[in-house]
Amino acid sequence: MLRNCEECNRVFAHPSRRLCEDCYQKEQEQFTAVKEYLQENPGASVAEVAKATEVDLDTIYEFIREGRLHIIPSDVEFQCEICGDTISTGRVCSKCRAEFRKSSYVAPEPENKSQSRSSRVHYLDQIKDRR
Ligand SMILES: [Zn+2]
Ligand SMILES: [Zn+2]
Repeated sequence: MLRNCEECNRVFAHPSRRLCEDCYQKEQEQFTAVKEYLQENPGASVAEVAKATEVDLDTIYEFIREGRLHIIPSDVEFQCEICGDTISTGRVCSKCRAEFRKSSYVAPEPENKSQSRSSRVHYLDQIKDRR
């Protein structure tokens, strides 16, 4: 499948990549530089990382937004997409994530429905037998 590189606009062929080989390699190098710098300097700010690695601020923010960095610069803050609280990582705060987990636990996957229903019937039968 042919597509245009998002970075240099050159046409290239790849099923899923959004960058051509050259730009992809460059991005990998930048990502590794940012990641390694943060591993060595966990308290660094975005500006410090950008200066030390010579990677664009925008690119660093993109790495962070994509969730690719395990250690993020100390001055980066996000807002929870649900309640708007300030968070340092991810897209939702831990409170909303817990809520989300709870609600997704209550609603079972459609394909498991019949199975959970039958196990519930089985459970009710057990209660009946005990009486
Ligand atoms: Zn390119
Ligand atoms: Zn929240």
